[in-house]
Amino acid sequence: MDGSLPSKGATPLSAPKSRWRPEDCGAMSEPDLLVYRSRLLGSDLAVTNFGGGNTSAKIASDDPLTGEPTTVLWVKGSGGDLGSIETSGFATLDIARLQQLDTRYRGVDQEDAMTGYLAHCTFNLNPRAASIDTALHALLPYAHVDHMHPDAITALATSRDGKALTREVFGDAIGWLAWRRPGWELARELAALAHARPKMLGVVLQNHGLVTWGDTSRDCYESTIETIGRAAGFVNAHLGNGAAFGGALVAVMEQAARRVAAVSTMARLRPLLSEASPKVGHLVDSPEALEFVCSAGLERLANIGTSCPDHFLRTKVRPLVIGPDTDVDGMTAAIRRYRDDYAAYYARCRRPDSPAMRDPYPVLVAVPGVGLISFAKDKATARIAGEFFGNAINVMRGAEAVSRYCGLPEQEAFDIEYWLLEEAKLKRMPAPLPLQGRIALITGGAGGIGRAIAARLLEDGACVFLADRSQSSLEEALAELKARGDGDRMAGLTMDVTSESLVEEAFQACVLEFGGLDILVANAGLASSAPIEEATLDQWRATFAVLGDGYFLAAREAFKIMKGQGGGSIVFVVSKNALAATPGASAYASAKAAELHLARCLALEGAPHGIRVNAVNPDAVIKGSQIWNGSWRAERATAYGIEDTDLEEFYRKRSLLQRSVLPEDVAEAVAFFAGERSAKSTGNILNVDGGNTIAFVR
Ligand SMILES: [Zn+2]
Repeated sequence: MDGSLPSKGATPLSAPKSRWRPEDCGAMSEPDLLVYRSRLLGSDLAVTNFGGGNTSAKIASDDPLTGEPTTVLWVKGSGGDLGSIETSGFATLDIARLQQLDTRYRGVDQEDAMTGYLAHCTFNLNPRAASIDTALHALLPYAHVDHMHPDAITALATSRDGKALTREVFGDAIGWLAWRRPGWELARELAALAHARPKMLGVVLQNHGLVTWGDTSRDCYESTIETIGRAAGFVNAHLGNGAAFGGALVAVMEQAARRVAAVSTMARLRPLLSEASPKVGHLVDSPEALEFVCSAGLERLANIGTSCPDHFLRTKVRPLVIGPDTDVDGMTAAIRRYRDDYAAYYARCRRPDSPAMRDPYPVLVAVPGVGLISFAKDKATARIAGEFFGNAINVMRGAEAVSRYCGLPEQEAFDIEYWLLEEAKLKRMPAPLPLQGRIALITGGAGGIGRAIAARLLEDGACVFLADRSQSSLEEALAELKARGDGDRMAGLTMDVTSESLVEEAFQACVLEFGGLDILVANAGLASSAPIEEATLDQWRATFAVLGDGYFLAAREAFKIMKGQGGGSIVFVVSKNALAATPGASAYASAKAAELHLARCLALEGAPHGIRVNAVNPDAVIKGSQIWNGSWRAERATAYGIEDTDLEEFYRKRSLLQRSVLPEDVAEAVAFFAGERSAKSTGNILNVDGGNTIAFVR
């Protein structure tokens, strides 16, 4: 610890500024203006949390069947991110039919059924599903409506005397509605308030967010921005000069020490949180997160937990607090207590038709001095949980500055968490991929075979960490893989496999990025070829450095992490030459044989710890392989007395199946050993060589 405390006062909430540019939208249609406004709002974190909030416009149209003039509600549909929404992201509904539907409303205990009727109001066969907030937009008597979750407003909405504070800030301009779960009843209450107070510009929803409106898209947008800005100004004026949350109790660790502590904490936490299913970690150590986890108020506020449904559906209500020096026994006990508390909460609050208890483990772990660590089924979910807790911290800081932060009553939180409509959403999620929640490190990950392996493991749902000597190849490989989607699941670092310290650093970086390690693919290679009397000692040593030392160092680091994680799978990409002696390439073939024997030794050592070690033996993978770009190609051609352009054909014909071996074929074998499909195999060899009698395993 270097005792560095934040010197300035608490971090202020950011106040949004209008970004509406009339020159951008002169000729836009109403739907286009709605898209424009929605993107401006949704992409500004001072306005709403990621993916949160919704917008609407009531637009005059002609019915496509009858030609009758119809007022159509365009409202953000279910799912998707407001900041990048397209026209297709909006549901369209006939307002007249929605108003008819309101006459079918039978009271709050049957309001969930109303969501099922919404599809009957669809205009123009639009397939986009309407969201739970549709009624809120439909029943308000205004042409344009925004519903946002701004931290500054939610700070007021979660304050003990939020109603009085809202009045203090806005006078009569902005109303207040006590907490109610989103749905038809809330929409009706809101509409009644708007009708009763026609001069009102919007409403703060307790423990939830803001609803604002206007006669045009621009009026609505400006009103939303202005309202949030006033709330932020009010909260910031109350922050004072001291640190937030009662000041610092624990010093923020100096950066290098914090990194070491984060790595060891994440590696120890992961197996304990992954008992039911594998999870991926994410570290948040922003100044705001550190201010919170180091504060005197941490325990008290963590105990109240997140109070906005939008936040706690992703973060769980309470984070777990664990000291950075807690050993595994201490962590195990703390997590058991958390699980027991969660099970007791479920038992206290469950209703006769509640869905079964979900994963009882914490999503967020606050580590004083170090940061906030989230664990979830995949990297994006963990990252988003961390981001939402960042919103929750802003809200708590604001509420504590102006008043006292309050949680939602337990039963209300439970009814949201176990809402049958939420359960239906979860049930619609696709089945997990075979390597979901698994973390793989690939050495030589930017080369042709390395990239093919990464792509294959990504396809199976794994997170991949590429280690490669070449910075430019690494950047290119990551860019190529990211272009295929889900950039959250890939990361990388330059690493020379022959450097002990760089190998250690890369494995630490992988744990810091994803929380642990389940799969090592040792793949970084190099080839040399020379008759024995011409082979130099330097060549011999360089070959053994990459193939011998490189596989040894990577496997040793993997073992250190995997033992703590309760197992793992190590796959060595070896070579046919490990089994078949080859003339003129004694260094390469001998080093490959050493790799193979190392794999078998490690299979013995790893078995008691659940670590499997297997080898894939490719042969003559010419396309995309780095080793064929250097002198090896010409040397091999010379050794066989052929032109180097004929090599691929030569190898193909030499194989029993007469087929070329591609990087994707090697990747398929690696993927088999990486996952549970090969759970009963260790110390094995899988040849991927088109068939070669001299490499038959005996
Ligand atoms: Zn909302």
